[in-house]
Amino acid sequence: MNREVVIDKIKSIEAWDVIVIGGGATGLGIAVESANRGYATLLVEQSDFAKSTSSKSTKLVHGGVRYLAQGNLSLVREASVERGLLTKNAPHLVKNKTFIIPVYNWWSRLKYTLGLKLYDWIAGRLSLGSSVFISRKKVLEKLPGIISKNLFGGVLYHDGQFDDARLAINLAQTIFDNGGYAINYMQVVDLIKENKKVCGIKILDKKTNENYILQSKAMINATGVFADDILQMDSSETKKYIAASQGIHLVLDKKFFSGDNALMIPETSDGRVLFIVPWHGKLLLGTTDTPVKNISLEPVAFENEIDFILRTAKDYLTVMPTRKDVLSVFAGLRPLAAPEEEEKKTKEISRSHKILVSSSGLFSMLGGKWTTYRKMGEDMIDKVEKELHWKHISSSTALLHIHGYTNQFNENDVFSFYGSDEIFIKKIMNENNEWLSEKLPINKAQIIWAVKEEMAQTVEDVLSRRTRCLLLDAKESIRIAPIVAAIMMNEMNEDETWMNDEIKKFNAIAKNYLIDIDS
Ligand SMILES: Cc1cc2nc3c(=O)[nH]c(=O)nc-3n(C[C@H](O)[C@H](O)[C@H](O)COP(=O)(O)OP(=O)(O)OC[C@H]3O[C@@H](n4cnc5c(N)ncnc54)[C@H](O)[C@@H]3O)c2cc1C
Repeated sequence: MNREVVIDKIKSIEAWDVIVIGGGATGLGIAVESANRGYATLLVEQSDFAKSTSSKSTKLVHGGVRYLAQGNLSLVREASVERGLLTKNAPHLVKNKTFIIPVYNWWSRLKYTLGLKLYDWIAGRLSLGSSVFISRKKVLEKLPGIISKNLFGGVLYHDGQFDDARLAINLAQTIFDNGGYAINYMQVVDLIKENKKVCGIKILDKKTNENYILQSKAMINATGVFADDILQMDSSETKKYIAASQGIHLVLDKKFFSGDNALMIPETSDGRVLFIVPWHGKLLLGTTDTPVKNISLEPVAFENEIDFILRTAKDYLTVMPTRKDVLSVFAGLRPLAAPEEEEKKTKEISRSHKILVSSSGLFSMLGGKWTTYRKMGEDMIDKVEKELHWKHISSSTALLHIHGYTNQFNENDVFSFYGSDEIFIKKIMNENNEWLSEKLPINKAQIIWAVKEEMAQTVEDVLSRRTRCLLLDAKESIRIAPIVAAIMMNEMNEDETWMNDEIKKFNAIAKNYLIDIDS
């Protein structure tokens, strides 16, 4: 996974079979599927892989208990199957997590016990474990820190938990492992057409400011909340297809809720669900659902979203978190496929995906979820084959091991998420073993590895997506940013101007992850 190698390919390959625009979950899934079927595949990402929504999720690989409540059984079935497959194909990143719904009366006990039995049944043999009602005593044991007043018991169920940005990096590596290519900081600035049909793209290398024109038989728009921008490049008369909805998360110290089980609050005051989930040694609280018009790579949490999560958490936690306890706050934008009825609330819009084929032949993927990224890839390449009258090649990604796959890892090792790559990082550590922080598990060897093997280009790539430091502790990440920048400068043969500029850019982004204590 090396930028220079990909640029050489960009210069030498005359026509690609498939070009995928967008390096989030959707684009990565499509490019893995395409490369795995043997097509000459290139993915281009304007920023870093998973820079946008795909690094800001709740980190659940789930069937979707909420979709069950909405009666969307086909989505739950599809997502449950994908959850089961991902647990098998990326065991180093996807864990079976126990969730507990606290219940306060007989009626809730019945409702959630039956509902979750249905959830288990829908997953069939890919279920991660049976749900069960547990006593009040057991809930208090399993969720130390939960308020015991009026607690009747709880319903325990299983879902998957993962590291979204790490899976994105591993998927980018899987594209290479299957003979395809992917490159970050390469923006599509125009579509090239011949006889009104899309046949290529003009791209801008954000690192060098060079432009390239590329030809491709199939052009796929997988740009999430930015999908309308590409559709506008195709035709200025096109309607808007995306309804964006912001969701935020707060990160707290584990002391508020020790143990390894997650809490699921099934009905918040705004009629949604809220999770409190242990993640990388901290607690993740979220999320919200706020319709937004402004589409940005750097969405910022609204004050009312932060207040809402803290207020809801206070009803369940014995030690009440306040603004000053928040280690990090991050916001992401859901790329929901806009419904026909304008009035529909974003929380009610289906999370299913839709494929759009424009009259120009441009393929666009709208909507979807991280959990179903593989199925979205399969559906898209099936559609491309059908529309372009290519011979159908059956998908085999359901059984494809994702880069890093191994069952030989120690879950308690801080580097276990690297999977089979862990030994290489340990090798680098033989000569470069320097821990950069007492609060965050980050080692100099990881930065060298990220630059050499994972296409990291900026301090933010390293601190936000190759490691998850920025999401885990924003203040501490700002403190170590100059150390990270200096290591990167050496590895990348850059100079001090580059280093100082990187620190400045990182700080500008990281300040959005800090909470204003006085608000
Ligand atoms: C708060 C929140 C919580 C969520 N939690 C979960 C969860 O727990 N489980 C789950 O399954 N799903 C979850 N989701 C949904 C899931 O995260 C998204 O569906 C998924 O990440 C969307 O991926 P994407 O690739 O479509 O979009 P994105 O991640 O936004 O990727 C699109 C990419 O396209 C790139 N791009 C745009 N324009 C161009 C251009 N001109 N040239 C090149 N590249 C371009 C962008 O830079 C971006 O990286 C959550 C979503 C949110 C917002």
